[in-house]
Amino acid sequence: MTEKLLRDVEYNYHFINERIAEAAQKAGKKREDITFLAATKTVEASVINHAISLGLDHIGENRVQELLSKYDDYDLSHCSLQFIGHLQTNKVRQIVDKVDLIQSVDSLKLAKEISNQSLKHNRTTDILVEVNIGREENKSGVYEENLEELLCQIAELPSVSVKGLMTIPPICDNKHKISNYFNNMHKIFLDISQKKLDNINMTILSMGMSADYYEAILEGANMVRVGSALFGARNYT
Ligand SMILES: *Cc1c(COP(=O)(O)O)cnc(C)c1O
Repeated sequence: MTEKLLRDVEYNYHFINERIAEAAQKAGKKREDITFLAATKTVEASVINHAISLGLDHIGENRVQELLSKYDDYDLSHCSLQFIGHLQTNKVRQIVDKVDLIQSVDSLKLAKEISNQSLKHNRTTDILVEVNIGREENKSGVYEENLEELLCQIAELPSVSVKGLMTIPPICDNKHKISNYFNNMHKIFLDISQKKLDNINMTILSMGMSADYYEAILEGANMVRVGSALFGARNYT
């Protein structure tokens, strides 16, 4: 870890916060209405903790092994740890007592296992249901037409609580197209909210990453997941 990296993270943190505030205002919201979650894959705990010391209060990991290896080193006294990646059913038990929310639930099987494991720890785990907004075949997430049924099935489980939806739209460099995906997602979110399904809270709409969090907020996101714009380009080696 270098001084320069920490200074860059500090600069980026303030810059992103300002852009979030600006987008929130444009969307008719307050800065506090938007949650800035840092996607921390490949980032060392010491660097993550530096961002936390600046005020960052939500982090998300997307690999179970990586979360476990860093878990003892995070400073979580004022920060929520979430799981944002694709979660395999057989790994749920390894993280269920460590995370505040699991963002990427897209099957009843996975939700059931989260509920079963949560029950063992005498707790309820908050989740978001992931929607495959771009209808991409090899991507996780439920299709729009199957969402309501899945939500109703999950609502029956004793130890999970649905708090909203998340999505990762298809990769494309056209801001207009991306905004369109976000807009569709927001419509689905509002539509489900208005149905007032039993035991389903539509509070969180998690969408937007480094390249497009500004557009996501304009289209209704109230949680953005930002990695490389905060910590710099990822080095996977
Ligand atoms: C890595 C990751 C992000 C952040 O991606 P960046 O483009 O680096 O901001 C957001 N969401 C999920 C699920 C991720 O895995």
